[in-house]
Order: sequence, then C-alpha cells, then structure tokens
Amino acid sequence: MHEVGMMQNVLATAVERAKHEGASHIRLLQMRVGEASGVVPESLRLAFDVVKKETIAEDARLQVESVPVVCYCTNCTTEFHPTDLLYECPECHQPYCEVRQGKEFELAFLEVS
Ligand SMILES: [Zn+2]
Repeated sequence: MHEVGMMQNVLATAVERAKHEGASHIRLLQMRVGEASGVVPESLRLAFDVVKKETIAEDARLQVESVPVVCYCTNCTTEFHPTDLLYECPECHQPYCEVRQGKEFELAFLEVS
C-alpha cells in the first residue's frame, strides 16, 4: 500500500507546520486528492490511522476532498470531464488530452491546537 509512504510525507509536513505555529496537537487534516492521482481515499484513511500513532496528530481526523478530473484538448480548446482513462476529446476525438485538474495530492487545511 503506497498510500502509507505518501501519508507519512503529508503528516511530516503537517507536524512541521503545526509546530511552527506553536501548536501541540493536530485536530483536523484536510486533503485535496484528485481522481486521477491514483490514490484511493479509503486506503488513505487506513494509512493515516497507521502513521498518526504516537505523533501530535494521534487524535486528528482526516478529511479527503475529491477533485474531479478536467481535461483540455489542445486541438480544439475544449475542456471536458473524461469518461474513461484515455482522456479522449469528446469534440474532435483527439486521444490523450492534457490533464488540467485531478492529479492533486496536497494538504489543503490544518486545524491545530
Ligand atoms: Zn478536441
């Protein structure tokens, strides 16, 4: 489960930020995770439960905001939500369009005390 490693990195960032603010606990961790990031939100929650033990985030809740995929076709400048993983343009059928949104994996918000 590669989510454990990813979550470890996010938690390290969160702990650093919390300490920088002089906080001793993390209450809430909010993340933005794109639907094309390859991360399963449910696995992320399980991973979080593992990595938060014996850290200042031990009692923290994890909220995952899912970001839908938006593609952009450079051929006809259409923006669209792809229906499959080929990212084919629905207008001109150019395959493999540019993914503009949906690959996010970031810490969006932190609540500390
Ligand atoms: Zn197109």
